Amino acid sequence: MRLTKTVGQYLLGPGALASLPDLLTEPVRSSQDRVVYLIDHVFRDGGLIARLPVTPADLVLYVDTTDEPTTEGIDAITAGLRDGPLPVAVIGIGGGATLDSAKAVSNLLTNGGAAADYQGWDLVPRPGVFKIGIPTLSGTGAEASRTCVMMNHARQLKLGMNSDHTVFDRLVLDPDLTATVPADQYFFTGMDTYIHCVESLAGRYRHLMADSFSRQALDLTREIFLSEDMQSAGNREKLMVASFLGGSAIGNSYVGLVHPFSAGLSMVFHIHHCLGNCLVMNVMEDFYPRETAEFHRMRDLHGIRLPRGLCRNLSDAQYRALFEATIIHTKPLINALGDDFRSILTLDTVTGIFQRI
Ligand code: NAD
Ligand code: ZN
Repeated sequence: MRLTKTVGQYLLGPGALASLPDLLTEPVRSSQDRVVYLIDHVFRDGGLIARLPVTPADLVLYVDTTDEPTTEGIDAITAGLRDGPLPVAVIGIGGGATLDSAKAVSNLLTNGGAAADYQGWDLVPRPGVFKIGIPTLSGTGAEASRTCVMMNHARQLKLGMNSDHTVFDRLVLDPDLTATVPADQYFFTGMDTYIHCVESLAGRYRHLMADSFSRQALDLTREIFLSEDMQSAGNREKLMVASFLGGSAIGNSYVGLVHPFSAGLSMVFHIHHCLGNCLVMNVMEDFYPRETAEFHRMRDLHGIRLPRGLCRNLSDAQYRALFEATIIHTKPLINALGDDFRSILTLDTVTGIFQRI
């Protein structure tokens, strides 16, 4: 049994962003106190920033989310912040990539060292700077989780700072902020919640809290993605809640087969997490037949087109690399298939699955 840390406080509802000044009164004590805003580059046009309580002491940085966060990128952001006074708050505004960047920077500012030093489990000794998460894209559960995922190119791995200190202190869950998300991105990221919960509930490991969060999140994602307008105001609010519940579930359970295969795609071809998950879920008939059929229904209902044939006609070395990058995720694979998962997921079987993508 492990003591579980969850997000301290949150504000949920349309227009919640307008209350950000109230959420800052605790950490900000004087006009000299600095708040650092890390904002997804899609908001660079300035419309959003005009709605934030930015003061002359504060710093606004845009996070380029073209690629997923890297340890080098996080170190570079942090280095730029070390010169001035220690910020009293770090605020992340964006999707999973920006939220993860804010969590990592917050931890590094108080703990020193480099991002790679803390990739793993419970390696962050001290609490980070007070952190607020403001999602603008729902589904990864990054707003709720105790990790922030970073690609480490030197070590050829993708791993988070899994720590209680990584959890946000406060969240602003304002569904107005997800109104501008393109439909395919909304679907891919929203499906991360669906897939997390399907994998967790189909696994061998059981945890009553995780199961309860997962069931509720799954119900919500079905309501959203089996309805005509997945991006209606009501559905965007539901997806914010589902994402939070899904992220909370995963903290107490494990994913299954989809995430390891998706991690393989990410490692070898740099395919983003949520698109990778959808590419894999699309061909999971042998393992999650009912859910794969349901995924196809949701995909077709919203006219989402997935790229096909990405892993056809690769070299033996590339299939081997995909296999290795998949099979290394032993915890979720044992959760899905048992200790003997290697007898099911042979090089041939894994290659066959990738070829169908
Ligand atoms: P993202 O943050 O990578 O953003 C995807 C795209 O959506 C970007 O181009 C961004 O500019 C755009 N975008 C974001 N908000 C928008 C808005 N309101 N309007 C228009 N465009 C908008 O996407 P994501 O799928 O939310 O996050 C993926 C990341 O999350 C990956 O780096 C993955 O590793 C990480 N992740 C973290 C956890 C965790 O628990 N910490 C869990 C799963 C995934
Ligand atoms: Zn995921």
